Amino acid sequence: MQKRGIAYFSAEFGLDESLPIYSGGLGILAGDHIKAAADRNVPLTGVGIFYGRGYFQQRIDEGGRQQHLYPEVNLEASVYPVQLVRDDHNQPLLIEVPLINRIVYAKALAVQVGTVTVYLLHTDVEANSEADRRLTDNLYPSNQEVRISQEILLGIGGTRLLAALGIQPEVWHMNEGHCAFLAFERIRVLSAQGVPFETALETVKASTVFTTHTPVPAGHDVFSIDMMDRYFGEFYWQLGADRERVLSLGQMGGAFNMTRLAVSTASKVNGVSKLHGEVTRELFHHWMRHIPKQDIPVDYITNGIHIETWLAAGMKELFDRHLPADWTTSTTNPKVWDAVRNIPSKELWEGHQLAKADMFDELELPIHSTGRGPLVIGFARRFATYKRALLIFSDPQRLACILGDPHRPVCLIFAGKAHPADGPGQNMIRQIVELSREDRFKGRVHIVENYAMDKAKKLVQGVDVWLNTPTKPMEASGTSGQKAAVNGVLNCSVLDGWWAEGYNGRNGWAIEGNQDGDHDTQTNQDSEALYRLLEDEIIPLYYKQDEESVPMEWVSLMKESICSLAPAFNTHRMINDYWHKVYVPAMTRGKQFASDHFEVASRVAAYKQFIRSNWSRVLVSNVEIVTDNHSGRIGLHKTSFRAEIDLGAIWHKDVRVEAVGSDGREGIWRVKLEPVQQSARGKFVYEGASFDTSINFWKANVNVRVTPISPDFESKFELELAAWGIQ
Ligand SMILES: *Cc1c(COP(=O)(O)O)cnc(C)c1O
Repeated sequence: MQKRGIAYFSAEFGLDESLPIYSGGLGILAGDHIKAAADRNVPLTGVGIFYGRGYFQQRIDEGGRQQHLYPEVNLEASVYPVQLVRDDHNQPLLIEVPLINRIVYAKALAVQVGTVTVYLLHTDVEANSEADRRLTDNLYPSNQEVRISQEILLGIGGTRLLAALGIQPEVWHMNEGHCAFLAFERIRVLSAQGVPFETALETVKASTVFTTHTPVPAGHDVFSIDMMDRYFGEFYWQLGADRERVLSLGQMGGAFNMTRLAVSTASKVNGVSKLHGEVTRELFHHWMRHIPKQDIPVDYITNGIHIETWLAAGMKELFDRHLPADWTTSTTNPKVWDAVRNIPSKELWEGHQLAKADMFDELELPIHSTGRGPLVIGFARRFATYKRALLIFSDPQRLACILGDPHRPVCLIFAGKAHPADGPGQNMIRQIVELSREDRFKGRVHIVENYAMDKAKKLVQGVDVWLNTPTKPMEASGTSGQKAAVNGVLNCSVLDGWWAEGYNGRNGWAIEGNQDGDHDTQTNQDSEALYRLLEDEIIPLYYKQDEESVPMEWVSLMKESICSLAPAFNTHRMINDYWHKVYVPAMTRGKQFASDHFEVASRVAAYKQFIRSNWSRVLVSNVEIVTDNHSGRIGLHKTSFRAEIDLGAIWHKDVRVEAVGSDGREGIWRVKLEPVQQSARGKFVYEGASFDTSINFWKANVNVRVTPISPDFESKFELELAAWGIQ
């Protein structure tokens, strides 16, 4: 057991199909994160919930309706050892969590993944009422009361569990906002030791990091204020602050937002792909309009996959033979993967055929291979509407022609669960089942029920093309295409999420409709682009007549895909990034803030309070911009900026003054201004100049901005304050 290191909190963990406590990509990512940490000896401890009946098991009935089965999870079947956590007296360790007017007890299960332990809380214990024993039955319940209870259990209970085990994490990683109540509990503990609220908040923030996964506001967990009051009424004061201050950490638009709470209580925030980082900055910009989206402090670390989990046995055997002996521990080295080019094409092709035959077998697909065919296209993921499973059916007649060519047969395989409360998602399943029964699609369109890690493995290993058609930019990252890639399966995907980084023009296909128009326009253009790719490129290439039975060009694409994607989109690279960019800095910062009786934390807290209470008096006026085109040399012009600034009680060394403007594209530029004159206490004239000729200093786009700064801040906009010139 790790006594220090990183605590990694997540509402779901997809470690193995034998432990079905995940619903989709978020959980799989958490599972792969744990495995990578174990491989790389990262001192990490997982904290989650054991859902006694897991996420549901899916059956699809004759009418295409999704049925939900909730069998009890059999822990005996888990491929990872699971043990009940016991206290010093060998009794089951029980954690107490306050829920409204009662205490709920939770036991803990410890799942061992190599050197990493994942602790899972579970309320099915005798000390609880019947209803409370059911609280942790299922993942993502639709009932908001159960949901907030689970999140309190995860955040507050999880923190108490670590304390009971004597674990004192140096860094607290919130994987998505569900677990963000952990900040409340950590503040409460400090408060009970006499640390003032604002100091406790700064201490907690310094050592907390947050990974957001949801690019749309609707995807964020939100609770009503009334609900917050009911659940936390007795808790607010224990944090050492009044109700309004505690709620302000997450309050938005009249409700309490868990993503907002996570952002307020973390010192580092990251999205899960480059594009998602940008989308998140844009989203948060709507929360703080006075800060340009380019300045919102959100970084990104692109998701990856745990290669050994997802690689077909036959492929692994090929890699063992042809790649350097240490390839499994050198997965981030592109040179190691270059050796894939030396695998004889015939062997690689046959390796893939084995995986394909295995998939037909294991998933009991009534598809018969004759010659090279059929070309098999896979689409498997949660049936969330934004993923647009039906995009390929936009023009059913055209699709029927594409699939039905007797000389070049093509099959589609679908799989995925829709959330039990997601009517439109379940409707998509029904439509696909109905389509698959139509004569024109019979034998060509298949649907596999109960998509889970076992089925996912067979599909990402066995199909020829992995299709991904989300509405851009709603796929934060996506990881199933990365699993496909390492297996030599070619991606055909909208340039969203990770594929916007992965696609290099030679390693698969990009569905490039025009992303501008409204939703319907985007759908029309994307489907047109997809049909074109299938008709003009993918199918002809697959069926191209080569002298041998091996489609040489297709196999060289497979090689390019593996070489270019595997070294970047794996969890070893990802955990490395988390270690260097996030964990180590937060460790240092956390220590710094807490040492010497919270000296830095209390200094920062006092400073922030002072700035906050004086900020409304900061005024920027008489902004002037002068461009001088006659400086003698051709092309050299000087642009000068001037503004009058009243800082009130704030010291001029505690602010940064800049001229800020848009560059007319996606970027912004900044020119620093300096105080040149002081007319009265707190009243200054600031000036600055730029000789940059690449910028068109177009007055309408320029303004002067004052921001509070401190060497103790993690980011320039840590206080989320900025005062702009009046225009
Ligand atoms: C990898 C995986 C996912 C995530 O797939 P995306 O295409 O990224 O949405 C979801 N479910 C299962 C079972 C998976 O293995």
